[in-house]
Amino acid sequence: MPGFFKPPVPARPQRDGAVTGLGMDSQAIRTRMVNRLEAQGISDGRVLAAMQRVERHLFVDSALANQVYEDTSLPIGLGQTISKPSVVARMLELAQQGGLQDASGKLGRVLEIGTGSAYQAAVLSQLASEVYSMERLRALYDRARENLRLLRLPNVHLLFGDGSGGFPKGAPYAAILVAAAGSDTIPLAWIEQLAVGGRLVAPLQTLGGAQMLVVIDKTPQGVRQTVLEAVHFVALKSGTA
Ligand code: SAH
Repeated sequence: MPGFFKPPVPARPQRDGAVTGLGMDSQAIRTRMVNRLEAQGISDGRVLAAMQRVERHLFVDSALANQVYEDTSLPIGLGQTISKPSVVARMLELAQQGGLQDASGKLGRVLEIGTGSAYQAAVLSQLASEVYSMERLRALYDRARENLRLLRLPNVHLLFGDGSGGFPKGAPYAAILVAAAGSDTIPLAWIEQLAVGGRLVAPLQTLGGAQMLVVIDKTPQGVRQTVLEAVHFVALKSGTA
């Protein structure tokens, strides 16, 4: 989809080449990022194409733009971070491969808990029919809206609120992605709001103190949990602020 993420005229010069120094090279820099993701084991072509398309530098402060295509998490304010590209790609690949898809391979409605910068929501918008993304911090929610405004992604719906209870109105979800780590149990509401055949991907703080990436598949026979690699996410918190 060439040009899909190009801001409409008038362009946003302050977010483009002039200040970030990325400009016309940003496509090539993203190609390098995607090549690295492939070398790290990400193989789903749809995920790689979506990571190639979405301009990650539009989601962080321009002062950080020179690091934005490195495999690193970066601060987005209020003590929160945008996840590193390899973690975003890993979560999206897990969702894409185990979530509920239509005949064309596209995921149906997906819920994301922890909008943050809305970068992952924007990548998800390329893979899913609808994206509901919830953020508990008002200032980040406002900034995420601003980040998405000119990208015109009509299938992304940002929600302000505590995502611990999910978002029942959009259920059932083909996949649920959680970008903040809760402690030892996955809220029942998330499992309930997952479609049969759907997949939840979430970091979970274990009793031993480690944080692990967990996948939950909801099958007609019941719920199956798989614990994957160690990860490092910010904490899932309750309430709004
Ligand atoms: N996916 C994001 C990264 C988000 S960091 C991105 O691409 O930028 C995790 C986010 O989860 C933080 O913004 C944090 O405020 C939010 N969060 C933590 N607990 C939450 C909850 N209960 N409900 C909604 N958002 C929550």
